[in-house]
Amino acid sequence: MEIRLITSALPYVNNVPHIGHLVGSHLPADIFARYNRIKGNITLFIGGTDEHGTPTELEAIKNNTTPEKITDFYYKIHKEIYDWFGISYDNFSRTSKSKIHYEVTREIFLQIFRNGYIIEKEQELPYDPKWGRFLADRFVIGKCPYCGYDKARGDQCEMCGRLLDPKDLIDPRNAITGESIIFKKTRHMFLDLSKLENDLKNWLDTKKGIFSDVTLSIAYGWLKEGLKARSITRDLKWGVPVPYKELW
Ligand SMILES: [Zn+2]
Repeated sequence: MEIRLITSALPYVNNVPHIGHLVGSHLPADIFARYNRIKGNITLFIGGTDEHGTPTELEAIKNNTTPEKITDFYYKIHKEIYDWFGISYDNFSRTSKSKIHYEVTREIFLQIFRNGYIIEKEQELPYDPKWGRFLADRFVIGKCPYCGYDKARGDQCEMCGRLLDPKDLIDPRNAITGESIIFKKTRHMFLDLSKLENDLKNWLDTKKGIFSDVTLSIAYGWLKEGLKARSITRDLKWGVPVPYKELW
């Protein structure tokens, strides 16, 4: 008998789920959970709605309400649909309402920090002075510097396909209101992935013949370029606060 902990990608709660959510995420995990239960494995199938973050905050702004009300509204719809389709979750929870999620998130953060894998860096990010908040790349639009398309997004131009940084855009604007934005300095915590390069390479070497060639070549490609530090904090009110007081 084996022990299986199973989960599937947590859906955002800024919209009503569609068939793709079921087919691509919940159903495969459900099939695997049912298979393991039949085999007699000790099986725990957990999931929930991913309620924190920019999409929820922006959905609240658009609807002139609070993130909490938005998540209460959509969680109910998500839960009902997965129950309706008989997805056999042992626990389907919510990231904004679960005390365990809150504590585990902070604990993981502190452990990574104490092990020396988190660094603090300054960044210049898109900021909407009227809203008084920073904007994620995809909520910024402007003119593409390569093809001149007027509604290129901050992460990519849909017309010419080039990957962009919001700073590349000419006349950057808030994608929702159309108001001009500025760039403002802010400090964030980053996962210092470069420290893991050797361990990761050694681990990947043991996966030859197990992972597909495409997966391996992409992973080795990233290692060859050198892993970049990845930002793991956001300027949000709606989220799990960084346990700052416990850091130093
Ligand atoms: Zn373009």
